[in-house]
Amino acid sequence: MITSTTGPQPADFADVRATNLAVVLRFVREHAPCSRADIAASTGLNKATVSSLVADLIDRRLVRETGLTENRVGRPATMLVLDGSPYAAIGVEINVDYVSAVATDLAGERLLTWRRAFSGGDSVNQGVASVGAIIRRVVNRMAKEERQVLGLAVAVPGLVDVQGTVRIAPNLGWRDADLGGDLAKALRDPGFPIQVDNDANLAALAEQRFGAHAGASDLIYLTGEIGVGAGIILDGRLRHGRLGFSGEIGHVQLDPDGPACHCGRRGCLEVMAGIGAVLGKDPSPAEIQVEIEDSVRLARAGDAGTLATLESVGRSLGKGVSILANLLNPEVVILGGYYVPLAPWLLPAVQDEMDDRVIASEAGGCQVVASTLGHDAAALGGVARVLDSIDSGRLPRVP
Ligand SMILES: [Zn+2]
Repeated sequence: MITSTTGPQPADFADVRATNLAVVLRFVREHAPCSRADIAASTGLNKATVSSLVADLIDRRLVRETGLTENRVGRPATMLVLDGSPYAAIGVEINVDYVSAVATDLAGERLLTWRRAFSGGDSVNQGVASVGAIIRRVVNRMAKEERQVLGLAVAVPGLVDVQGTVRIAPNLGWRDADLGGDLAKALRDPGFPIQVDNDANLAALAEQRFGAHAGASDLIYLTGEIGVGAGIILDGRLRHGRLGFSGEIGHVQLDPDGPACHCGRRGCLEVMAGIGAVLGKDPSPAEIQVEIEDSVRLARAGDAGTLATLESVGRSLGKGVSILANLLNPEVVILGGYYVPLAPWLLPAVQDEMDDRVIASEAGGCQVVASTLGHDAAALGGVARVLDSIDSGRLPRVP
């Protein structure tokens, strides 16, 4: 909440109003069903201001009155909940072997979950064409349901700068691609904002909003796809770094004499603890899913070779997670992607390495867990990014 004591200028007034609208919207998101009096009591805004802000949010169909009332001393209060029925937020993840799309309403209720095989395309242009076609179908579906798209955020496995340009996506073979601009063209200027970010960053946002550790203010998400990257939330905020390239834990060197990494160096975490290390070869995108299922089956059956591989991968992963724990002191490190089905065999070795390597006792309070969001995490994080923009005051126009 912002209040001004110095006589606001018109521009300030608009800012204050937008900020206060966002304060009320967030309060309703977190505390619904709630009354106008609840909002006033908790935010410190006066009742007349709250009534006016709520009227505005109802006009925008972001909030609605329920039939319910709360009995208070005096007269009953009408209860408010999030509405958002005319809206949709879209998140898309582009990965080496698949594209996923998720759409939710304003309250985060799923409207659609799609996953399509994807070969990365031979070029950025081909990739944009096929991803653009999928997104167009999602947008059309939302239009059929008479929903206005609030925004689209796209997750990419690679270095994405703060302007949303994909600098290097090695596993896709993309370089210096203005993906947001290209998608806007492919969608013929769709009239909603398009954001692009790294897959681990968006997956971390998904965990923070929707995951089993939602609300954690110090959380790290580790992707377990063909590449390994970290999305870092510290003190409640996603940390991008100077150019947006934070979290490349996958290319921290664990062993100078280790196997060659496709980045040209040796013994990187990604090559020691990535999915390729689990499978003992360069994974072929089309077969990863089946091969990981095979590993799980063998591990369950007690196959000695598989168990030894998973223990060794778990140890390397534990070294990487210990670096994160020593450096950033997270509350939780969440393993995503293909690490999820393998977690029962990886986690004991990870924990062992943490006990040895993290200087703070009990790993500084850091837990390591498997994601409950699975392969949808990065796409769902795209949705979280769009909803974050709305919650911070970039409200849609009155429908
Ligand atoms: Zn590397």
